[in-house]
Amino acid sequence: MNDEQKNTLRDRILDRSVEVEIRIEQLREATLPISPDKGLGRLTRLEAIQDKSVNEAALERLRDESTRLHNALVNIMRPDFGNCQNCGQQIAMERLQALPASTLCMECAS
Ligand SMILES: [Zn+2]
Repeated sequence: MNDEQKNTLRDRILDRSVEVEIRIEQLREATLPISPDKGLGRLTRLEAIQDKSVNEAALERLRDESTRLHNALVNIMRPDFGNCQNCGQQIAMERLQALPASTLCMECAS
């Protein structure tokens, strides 16, 4: 990967980090405890609890992605940046553009 590609990718990582942080904030609000006296019907409350666990799972993934994006920014100038952590092959640029937090190549991730 050359410096120009790294610069492009750094912008992409920063853009994605902003998206992830905004989403984390939204989900943090959506995963606050559901108060029992919210005046919801039984079914609605059940739905609220299901939504909450879906949101919690999404929040968990986003926090993980946020960590990996941060690591990518820290490591981007290293010569081995963009290499698959499993097989050591260079991860395709298209994949890194689409998923800048990738640490695995397409083959190893699937
Ligand atoms: Zn690989």
